[in-house]
Amino acid sequence: MIHCFSLEGVKLVYDAHSQALHQVDDLAWAVLKGEDFAALGQPPAAEELAEVKGEIASLQERGLLFCPDPYGGYEPPAPAVKALCLNVAHACNLACRYCFAGKGQYGEGPALMPLHTARRAVEFLLANAGSRQRLEIDFFGGEPLLNWDVVKETVFYARRRGAEAGKTITFTLTTNALLLDEGVTGFCLQHGVNVVLSLDGRREVHDRLRLTPGGQGSYDLVVRNVRRFVRSWTAHPEPKGYYFIRGTFTRHNPDFADDFLHLVDLGFDRISIEPVVAAPGEPHALTGDDLPRLEAEYERL
Ligand code: SF4
Repeated sequence: MIHCFSLEGVKLVYDAHSQALHQVDDLAWAVLKGEDFAALGQPPAAEELAEVKGEIASLQERGLLFCPDPYGGYEPPAPAVKALCLNVAHACNLACRYCFAGKGQYGEGPALMPLHTARRAVEFLLANAGSRQRLEIDFFGGEPLLNWDVVKETVFYARRRGAEAGKTITFTLTTNALLLDEGVTGFCLQHGVNVVLSLDGRREVHDRLRLTPGGQGSYDLVVRNVRRFVRSWTAHPEPKGYYFIRGTFTRHNPDFADDFLHLVDLGFDRISIEPVVAAPGEPHALTGDDLPRLEAEYERL
């Protein structure tokens, strides 16, 4: 299986199964993609075409192009559960305009997961993990810090039950950082909880969509809390979990590379910026028409 793509005008072909990456010219590109030669301006000479086809055949013989799937005969083991995402809070202290979760409530009104439900989820995970040794639990919402006591107790419970079952469980917390105080930070560092921090970049970009229920921007508070967290994280000795800043870009900021740079300027070097998930017709939704500009922005980034 090959994947043809271009980067800054350079044509590249990635062979998925050998993991070889080839830089190719326009003719080889057209041959590999099965395109007609109209885009080349003039049809290639017969010798030139034969030469390209010969090179492709040679790469194929050497296992560097159209390599067979090395896992072709692989039979996967019986399905096992390896990770749970616990929506511990169907509630939120923000009201982001692009929220995919109905302002955190998923259309059902606010609710917090009781501890006994979280414990049953841990038991479900252990009972269905099969031979898997490494398991994961994500705390998600809404805003999981609204149910912080249950998060903490679930970590304690899962660690104990995991050890009894001979499994290692890792934890990840995704938060909007409004309640990310020193107590939460200390707990996450001490217990190796990975933390994903939502921050979209420049103040005007973040505050346009990540608003409090009263309509105020959340940038100042989020940046203050995230910076304090990252300072503590940086100073904390290994072993520790990871963190990264999770930004969302929308139709309003197709120049999202500037948001990335803003996050770097704030002192963060673990950043993931991803496209918004939104229904077509939403003012911030991305459409197919945005693709050329977004592709150019990724190259700029
Ligand atoms: S912080 Fe997350 S759950 Fe809360 S409103 Fe914003 S996007 Fe929705």
